[in-house]
Amino acid sequence: MKCAKCETEMIKGAIQGDRYALKWAPAKGSSAPYITLKRNSLLGRTNTEAFHCRNCETLTIDLKSQQA
Ligand SMILES: [Zn+2]
Repeated sequence: MKCAKCETEMIKGAIQGDRYALKWAPAKGSSAPYITLKRNSLLGRTNTEAFHCRNCETLTIDLKSQQA
């Protein structure tokens, strides 16, 4: 996957958490809904696929494949 900002090839990896699904929360005062990500469990830990751009220091998550 190429970075949307700079088009550098991104590094595939994962954001790992504990046993609960990761959620994106809107800023305080916003009425936007929470987004819950798939757990993609790895030994009981959350393992959400994400791509890292080393040039921009940006993480990208494809919600079409990673949203619960
Ligand atoms: Zn970039």
